[in-house]
Amino acid sequence: MAALTTWRIGGPADFYAEPETPEQLAACYEFAAERDIPVLGLGGASNMLVHDDGFRGLVVRYMDREETRTITGTQLELRIGARTLLARLARQIARDGWSGLEWAEGIPGTLGGAIVGNAGAFGGEMASVVTEVEVFDPPRCEVHTYANDECQFAYRSSRFKTGGAAAGYVLGATLRLRKEAAESILARMDAIRVRRKSNSPTGLSCGSVFKNPPGDFAGRIVETLGLKGTSIGGAEISSVHGNYIVNRERATAKDVCALIDLVRSRARDELGLELELEVRLVGFGDA
Ligand SMILES: Cc1cc2nc3c(=O)[nH]c(=O)nc-3n(C[C@H](O)[C@H](O)[C@H](O)COP(=O)(O)OP(=O)(O)OC[C@H]3O[C@@H](n4cnc5c(N)ncnc54)[C@H](O)[C@@H]3O)c2cc1C
Repeated sequence: MAALTTWRIGGPADFYAEPETPEQLAACYEFAAERDIPVLGLGGASNMLVHDDGFRGLVVRYMDREETRTITGTQLELRIGARTLLARLARQIARDGWSGLEWAEGIPGTLGGAIVGNAGAFGGEMASVVTEVEVFDPPRCEVHTYANDECQFAYRSSRFKTGGAAAGYVLGATLRLRKEAAESILARMDAIRVRRKSNSPTGLSCGSVFKNPPGDFAGRIVETLGLKGTSIGGAEISSVHGNYIVNRERATAKDVCALIDLVRSRARDELGLELELEVRLVGFGDA
């Protein structure tokens, strides 16, 4: 799995599949059910920490990148496949003069992963552009469409994240975007790119490790604890951004977990704060 994740960390999965149709996806779930093994939905693997021993199950990366556009007046309804790369999509629709996804500039990963985690930045988030989400529901072996208000979107969360594998596999979604001059949208995206460049570490990472506690920033808390720059094995809490752990040199999941435990225990003991993980743990007994 290390080759697939942005952290370049993680042992092997027992099985891996790239289905291209809902029928092939159904066959994957049947394969897993017959062997009584879990299924892990994979997008760009930019928000997961995979155990050094890997994942005892079937990893599925659904390959739908198709899009359909319906324009009504100044509004675009864009139906798009889960495998579409989010940042690339944001740029492409901005160039076509559609606004709503500019905050996604520079966020790695896929549309599917972004919906599951309700990805967001600079005041925007998936929840504000998604009108409905198509999900493959494994027990019933059918495709179910959830309206936005049924997705239970919350800060870096949705029903597809809290429900885990049982919540189904996100196949695609419909986004609602509005017409605006391409130059204005692209100018806002350029400004975001500059801001990201100035405060994002360049090394291999998963982005933010911890969720921001209400009214505060996890990165600021790590800095207050004096932990920026701390390293264990090949992993290091970035000295640029306290909420990033970078794979400095052949880091293992064990190294990263040791840093996570260190931050959490210091935050608990010294500040009475319980830091929640934003990153998804894979192969640690929860999946
Ligand atoms: C440098 C860097 C910067 C980042 N900046 C941001 C940021 O500003 N804001 C932000 O929100 N995030 C950020 N991230 C984190 C990450 O890029 C996002 O959370 C992204 O949306 C995850 O998408 P993914 O496709 O990589 O998901 P993955 O990591 O592949 O998966 C994440 C979770 O979703 C599940 N999943 C993925 N696809 C599906 C599917 N189709 N159906 C069902 N389940 C699925 C996985 O099982 C897993 O639980 C950053 C990451 C990096 C490396």
